[in-house]
Amino acid sequence: MPITANDPGRKTWLEVPANSDFPIQNIPFGVFLTRDDVITIGTRIGDFAIDLGALHQLDYFDGIPLTDDIFLQDTLNDFISDGKKTWRLVRNRIADIFDAENPKLRENEEHRKVILFGLDEIEMQMPVQVGDYTDFYSSKGHATNVGTMFRDPENALLPNWLHMPVGYHGRSSSIVPSGIPVNRPQGQTRPKDSDEPVFGPSKRVDFELEMAFITTDANHLGEPIPIAEAEDYIFGLVLFNDWSARDIQTWEYVPLGPFLAKNFASSVSPWIVTLDALEPFRTEGPKPEKKLLPYLQSKGKKSFDIELEVFLQPENGEETRLSKSNFKYMYWNMSQQLAHHTVNGCPVISGDMMGSGTISGPTPDSYGSMLELSWKGERPVKLKDGSERKFIEDNDTVIMRGFCQKKNYRIGFGEVSTKLLPVFEPKKK
Ligand code: MN
Repeated sequence: MPITANDPGRKTWLEVPANSDFPIQNIPFGVFLTRDDVITIGTRIGDFAIDLGALHQLDYFDGIPLTDDIFLQDTLNDFISDGKKTWRLVRNRIADIFDAENPKLRENEEHRKVILFGLDEIEMQMPVQVGDYTDFYSSKGHATNVGTMFRDPENALLPNWLHMPVGYHGRSSSIVPSGIPVNRPQGQTRPKDSDEPVFGPSKRVDFELEMAFITTDANHLGEPIPIAEAEDYIFGLVLFNDWSARDIQTWEYVPLGPFLAKNFASSVSPWIVTLDALEPFRTEGPKPEKKLLPYLQSKGKKSFDIELEVFLQPENGEETRLSKSNFKYMYWNMSQQLAHHTVNGCPVISGDMMGSGTISGPTPDSYGSMLELSWKGERPVKLKDGSERKFIEDNDTVIMRGFCQKKNYRIGFGEVSTKLLPVFEPKKK
């Protein structure tokens, strides 16, 4: 089925600011709370949030097989379960409704009043109920930097790394949308020159610049997803800040891997940009350096050219850009990740979230974490106000932005912006 929603020549009757992340060719999906305190599923064009529940009730999706309440829900999970064909039909129809040439809604003020919201009238929520969260470790730049810092520059990559997309199972309960602040975690660390651990606030709170893809119901227990079909089960992507506590991580991670250093919070951008919308931005990924086992051999352009940036904003201060990276630097693509994840028969369901792992490019200004940018604290990073950071300080806000750009054509993700609060203090009674 053609993706007519991607037509680069289409104009909309809504006003869209120049360089908006959300032109009519994007049509992402999200969940928001309206001015009337109603939760609904919606999309966004320019700076308008569009209530898909209201559009559906007013029969604008006539002819598309959708249950009556599909958009009147507080998560996208059921809509995502409907599958790729339905996502395409709905995106194509939304493009048609808001096409500059289509007067139906444009000329109906009553309908416009209940369908359109300003961004200041809504509050974005988590777009899905995350069933399971898996975090990969798929950027060669990042894995090499971390291996160099903590082990051996000569053997920075462990022997398995070039043969499989390494990952671990994370925790879905602490995934929050942009705008929700996060507390500095406490835990066990072991000070240098000591054999005994101490307990207290992490002194090395870090961000990880990642993207995450969201799946639909893909397979049954025991049934692997062939690599050639993997993309059929990917609904879309969000920006993903995978908060990490490096000092807790160093002490706890042997032998079972990340635990409390990684599961206190991960922050996501609230609009899911569909894989369909990203079609024009496909690109070749890095060539495999080792011959891959057949189940991991992917064909065609399976990487995506998505520019990524990280900014740090001190309290009441201005933003400093810390990093500029790109999703295309991923050594392992999403198809390989999903094929590997399910090759043993592990089921994947609607709303599962798969983090890419920190996306570090080849140059120091493209590193995706403070650990790498400050080289484990040895080279502090200078901010615009003259202050320095080795890691993230209390009341700093970390902002990640991402977009795809062609001439006069941009598909963006908006941002994920999160303030780091001091350690949690129980309310005094
Ligand atoms: Mn991570």
